[in-house]
Parts: sequence; C-alpha cells; structure tokens
Amino acid sequence: NNLKKYFPIKTSLFNKSKQVVKAVDDVSFHIYKGETFGLVGESGCGKSTLGRTLNRLYDPTSGEIFFDGKDIAKLNNKELQPYRKRMQMIFQDPYSSLNPYMNVEEIIDEPLEIHTSLSKVERKEVAMDILEKVGLKKEDMEKFPHEFSGGQRQRIGIARALSINPDFILCDEAISALDVSIQAQVINMLEDLQAEMKLTYLFVAHDLSMVRHISNRIGVMYLGKMVEISKSDELYSKPLHPYTQALLSAIPIPDPIKAQNSKRAIITGELPSPIEMETGCRFRSRCPFAKPICAEANPQLKEVDSEHLVACHLY
Ligand code: SF4
Ligand code: MG
Repeated sequence: NNLKKYFPIKTSLFNKSKQVVKAVDDVSFHIYKGETFGLVGESGCGKSTLGRTLNRLYDPTSGEIFFDGKDIAKLNNKELQPYRKRMQMIFQDPYSSLNPYMNVEEIIDEPLEIHTSLSKVERKEVAMDILEKVGLKKEDMEKFPHEFSGGQRQRIGIARALSINPDFILCDEAISALDVSIQAQVINMLEDLQAEMKLTYLFVAHDLSMVRHISNRIGVMYLGKMVEISKSDELYSKPLHPYTQALLSAIPIPDPIKAQNSKRAIITGELPSPIEMETGCRFRSRCPFAKPICAEANPQLKEVDSEHLVACHLY
C-alpha cells in the first residue's frame, strides 16, 4: 500500500545533492492467497526491487506491506523471523545462488536448520522428501552444484526454498536463464507444487510471454510505477496501457509469415532517467498517444473494468 523504495545515489564525493532513484514509487496492489501474480516490465523498471521489498530483503522507504493481514513494513529483523520462514525466494541464476562448496543435502538443510527445531535425522527426511518432489533422486544428496545441469540446479534452488513449507514465494526471473524446453518443465513443476503445497507466487519476469501461462493476474511496471493490472487472459486479449501494448507486440512471433504481416508497435523515444522524475506520465516520452495533460498530471491507477486497472489519461 503506497509502497516506495528510493535508493540514494552518490554522484561524487563533493556533490552533496541528494539525488535518489525512485525504484518503486508509490505502488499499491494486492496478491490473492493461492494465486500466481506475474510482474513484468523492462529491466530497471523496479520489479525486482518491488519483490525484494515485499519480502523484506530491503527496508521500504515508506508505505505498508500487509502479509496475511499484518503490516510487516516496519518490523525489525527479530520481529521478521516468523515471516521470513513463510516467505521464500527462488533466484534467477542457479549458478551463483548455490554455494559451490556445499553438497545438495547441506544446501537444503541450511534453511531447515535456521527456521525449524527438527533434529538432524528429521531434517534429512524432509530434505529427501522435497528433493523427490522437485524431480531429483536421493543419490543426488551427496553431489555438488557443478555436477548438475542448469535446469537441475534450478530444481535444487526450488527444493531449498520449499523445504521449510513456506506460503509465499518470490520467483525473480526464476526461469529466464533456462533453455525454453526446460522452462516449460520447471513451470509445470512449479504449478504442481503450488497446488500440492498451497503456495502463492509472485512471478517476476522481463518478458510477458514467460508469465502468460503461469499467472492468474499480471501487473505491468514502468519506471517505478504500476501502470496496468489485469487478469492474465484479458491482458493479452485487451491490453489497455500503451506500454503494455508495446510490450506485447515485442513478443517474438515464431511463424515467419505471420511476423511479416503483423503490424508491431515499436517502442520509440528515449527511456527517461529514473533519477529525474518530473510531473506527468513517465511513459510520455515514448508514448504515441501522449496529449498535453500527460505532461501535467501523473495518471493514477484506477479500475476501468472488473479487475482491470490502468494508469493512463486515455481512460
Ligand atoms: Fe500515453 Fe498519456 Fe497514457 Fe501516459 S497517460 S500512457 S503519455 S496517453
Ligand atoms: Mg531484476
């Protein structure tokens, strides 16, 4: 609710100007229990920062974060402990997020040791159980990350996140680094695990085609602002915001004949600096529909159809 995350920038030692990057700038939205909420936008739009602030890996600059009805925005580390156990993360890069010196058993055991009071024997049982759920074998417990393929490594990362039976998972570009064929397998597995373990996902991706099938609803971010939120199907069939329309037209079309004939909207104009955020719509330097009011007033996110919200003066 009205969440902001600003980062100060040090321009130089002698320049004391208090410049900030408004990575997340007054964002309000909700995620239903049990759903998958897709969050998309170009790199630098603030989607990862938003996800990490929600999971309290960052302290918010201001605003509220309600988790199961409780505002966790201002809780300190100790107060956050019970929530940390319930909110986990699956990272983009399984190569760098797994400790190369730990074997799979140790990797999965780490959160269990921190967050549960289970004995070592009990923890091993849980680890073996979750490893099977993500499609790996008991024998894999003794192996190290370098002995696995990228897809298998992402399964280990998922096992680590799920071992402590969390409720909410932030998947930050969780499948972006994987081959397309592996992406589908991992998505199917994440969906099965969601049903089985009653998980809620926030699925962050830079590409709309990646979140299409897994998301119930999708939010589109542009330079720190949420510009559109809609049910997944409707976002593709009836995108309202000019930026969403441009993003959708950027999805590669595999059929070369279709690609030749389709009129693809191309995003033109400069990506404005997120440091200088003057008044008005942030998309206006690239928007083909910009009109005078777009320079004067910041469009507010409002519901224009059932469950379909957009922040644009055209509506
Ligand atoms: Fe374009 Fe204006 Fe809508 Fe912004 S508010 S997206 S500039 S029409
Ligand atoms: Mg990111």
